Amino acid sequence: MYDVIVIGAGPAGSTAAKALAEKGFCVLLVERHKLPRYKSCSGVLIQKTLDLVRLCFGKDVPLSAACTPVENKGMIFTDDKGREFHFEQGGLNVWRSSFDNWLTEQAAASGAQVQDSTSAISCKEQSDSIAVTLHGERTYTEQARYVIDCEGVTGLLKRRLLGINQEFITTFQTFNQGKIQLDPHYFYAYLQPELSEYDAWFNVKDEMLVLGVSVKDTSRIRHFYGQFVSYMETHHGLHLQQQLKAEKWLMPHIRPGCPISYGQGRVLFAGEAAGFLNPMGEGISAGIESGYYAAQAIANHVDALDMIYADYERNTQQLKAYMERQWNFVGRMADTFSEMIR
Ligand SMILES: Cc1cc2nc3c(=O)[nH]c(=O)nc-3n(C[C@H](O)[C@H](O)[C@H](O)COP(=O)(O)OP(=O)(O)OC[C@H]3O[C@@H](n4cnc5c(N)ncnc54)[C@H](O)[C@@H]3O)c2cc1C
Repeated sequence: MYDVIVIGAGPAGSTAAKALAEKGFCVLLVERHKLPRYKSCSGVLIQKTLDLVRLCFGKDVPLSAACTPVENKGMIFTDDKGREFHFEQGGLNVWRSSFDNWLTEQAAASGAQVQDSTSAISCKEQSDSIAVTLHGERTYTEQARYVIDCEGVTGLLKRRLLGINQEFITTFQTFNQGKIQLDPHYFYAYLQPELSEYDAWFNVKDEMLVLGVSVKDTSRIRHFYGQFVSYMETHHGLHLQQQLKAEKWLMPHIRPGCPISYGQGRVLFAGEAAGFLNPMGEGISAGIESGYYAAQAIANHVDALDMIYADYERNTQQLKAYMERQWNFVGRMADTFSEMIR
């Protein structure tokens, strides 16, 4: 019998597992992939993320997780009228598999038991515990008092528990050799509707030029990607030599008011599974913060489910307000996001 089973070893799950294990709770962290697992990402840790890592993990992100250029100096947005907005702030450029694996190692060092290559396939609530069926080399069931579901965007268990359909945005990005006349220390986001159905972006990782577009209709990926490459050739001197890799992923489609699902019974949701995601897909900070507060809520009120929810919602109020403010702001930059303005 575990105190808590945490599902998913992303930033939300590893933070939750560490926060509980270091308080002496018996924690199992399950991850469906073999660790270190791959996650499609731009790998930009903003200043808020770096501060949260220091707060929740008591350490700075190790440089072994970084890629070049190590320093990210901020973001440059181009709005739907082609105007540029510069947001300067110090951040770090990392490879997600190394960064997330480091977070998971910190959770394990604090006493969390980590089980990779194992999927949680169902949760069944009992009177004072919950049975979680796990599938790895074999299928078996573990009991816990609580579950923190940090499955990320797919949120299969959450969808099953709540009986809902999730809306997704599909991201497509390529890693390339080539040249461009842009400062590699910045992350560039483009909000023109002719370049994507959501946003398009450019950044540099270990000298590879990363170009991405996100869409609602996956049949339009090639069209928008082609438009974006032409735009970058014309406006920023992009010259592609060789495509090294291409990948598709999913992002939650955040709706006006940024609704959050906090949980169902003994299963709390955190990170993207709960709906925490900032504009332009910045979600690591929200994952860490919500994972931390979900864990704290259980630690503070382990015998009172109502109090757990009240504590979790209260402590993530500021995070939700920050998320709403940011989406509001982006809503004013491009028609694509105007529905977000409240
Ligand atoms: C293309 C792209 C670029 C991005 N760039 C950035 C960026 O630069 N900076 C930033 O801050 N954010 C970025 N994001 C967003 C960021 O990646 C996510 O918001 C963040 O990873 C969410 O963290 P999480 O812990 O909630 O989920 P995840 O990191 O997705 O972790 C969930 C984990 O749960 C595991 N899992 C799922 N289901 C199960 C199951 N049933 N059983 C066991 N394990 C399971 C998954 O394998 C995964 O490891 C980007 C996203 C995309 C798609």
